[in-house]
Amino acid sequence: MAEKDNMDKYYLEWLDRGLSKVPKTESRERLNVPNVECINEKNKTIIQNLNQIADILNRDPKHVLKYLTLKLATSYSEIGEGRYVLKGRILCKQLDAVISDYIKAYVECPICKRPDTKLSKEKRGILQLVCLSCGAVSPVKSL
Ligand SMILES: [Zn+2]
Repeated sequence: MAEKDNMDKYYLEWLDRGLSKVPKTESRERLNVPNVECINEKNKTIIQNLNQIADILNRDPKHVLKYLTLKLATSYSEIGEGRYVLKGRILCKQLDAVISDYIKAYVECPICKRPDTKLSKEKRGILQLVCLSCGAVSPVKSL
C-alpha cells in the first residue's frame, strides 16, 4: 500500500536525521470527518449528518451549529432524526469549509495539531481547549 510506503519512507528519513524518539502509542493524527450531507431547497438547507460529524469531533452538535449559523449569518431549527434546517440556500461545500474552520478553531490543538482535545468551561465562562495529547491548555473564543 502506497500509504504504508510513505510512512516507512518518512520514518527512515526521520531516523536519518538522528532523532531517537519513537512514538509509543498511536495517537489520532487527523480526523476522518465526512463531508456535510446537505439538501438544498429553495430557501433552506437541510443538513443530514451533523450529529455524526459532531460525534467524530467529540463536540456538542449545538456548539457546531452555533458556529455554523454565526459564520453563515443564518439560523437553524431541528427537524428530528438528527436533521437540521438552515435558513437560506447554503452550498454543501460552504458547509464543509465552515466545518474545517471549526476544527481549526475548536478541535485541533494549536500546539501539537492533534485532534484529541476537549473543551472545558473555566471560571468566568472562559472557554479552554484542553489537549489530551500534549496537555496544552489554550483559550478559545466563546460562541
Ligand atoms: Zn496538543
